[in-house]
Amino acid sequence: MTQSSALCGPHAPSLDLGGRTALVTGAAGGIGGACALRLAAAGAKVRAVDRDAAGLDALAERARHLAGTVEPHVLDLTDLDAAELLAAGTDVLVNNAGLQLVRPLEDFPPDVFHTVLTVMLEAPFRLIRGALPHMYAQGWGRIVNMSSVHGLRASAFKSAYVAAKHGLEGLSKTAALEGAPHGVTSNCVNPSYVRTPLVEKQIADQARAHGIPEQRVLAEVLLKDSAVQRLIEPEEVAEAVAYLCVPQASFITGTSLVLDGGWTAH
Ligand code: NAD
Repeated sequence: MTQSSALCGPHAPSLDLGGRTALVTGAAGGIGGACALRLAAAGAKVRAVDRDAAGLDALAERARHLAGTVEPHVLDLTDLDAAELLAAGTDVLVNNAGLQLVRPLEDFPPDVFHTVLTVMLEAPFRLIRGALPHMYAQGWGRIVNMSSVHGLRASAFKSAYVAAKHGLEGLSKTAALEGAPHGVTSNCVNPSYVRTPLVEKQIADQARAHGIPEQRVLAEVLLKDSAVQRLIEPEEVAEAVAYLCVPQASFITGTSLVLDGGWTAH
């Protein structure tokens, strides 16, 4: 049997990360928390990174019954040197932390633009840089970058976020090309609107920017281009991340797994 036919048996892909170390940024948030729990359920020792200490403690508590572990690491990712150091020795890296500000370009505060690019593009670069030596040495690694539909499309009033996500797509593809000879895959996961605090917090901003009441934002702004008329759940996004880590996904690299309810089919 060839190596590739051994990967394609009749069984559904299952994920066993026993003995593996994963690092998830933004783990106190909606999607990051779901990813950390999913990877810990698969047996991984998860370094859960966020600046929100209380959120990380709550996450670690939820993980107590799982096969793996969730270790809280309180860190502000604008500390790029600390981020790079923390990534050393990881087998699975999920670059997920993010923030959003909805504001027209002419009013967009330059300091916020800089922070968004630092947390959502430069920190992923430094985390990848920190993780690669161990991944290369063992000939296996998985990098999953939490992009967005906004890594592929723009929306008005989201200049920093769209710029950061488009940059992340490029970083992810470059990591895929360099990592391939070393058994390291790098991909993006691209959800549309997920039911998380990040989305809940932007409803008021969206209402102001579009000049409509808050109760019309979901239907008229967030789900306007979605064929499936609902928000995605964080657990559905985490399952896509888990899939990219199964042995059967080793040929998937340098691509973007879009979970957008048909948005970009238009
Ligand atoms: P969230 O607000 O629930 O979580 C984001 C987490 O990132 C928070 O816990 C926050 O504390 C952390 N974070 C932000 N800045 C940080 C910093 N400087 N240092 C350390 N931690 C920091 O948001 P979410 O919806 O779970 O988003 C997670 C990722 O998914 C983001 O990259 C976001 O762009 C992406 N995404 C979200 C949606 C959505 O609809 N929610 C859609 C597409 C992509």
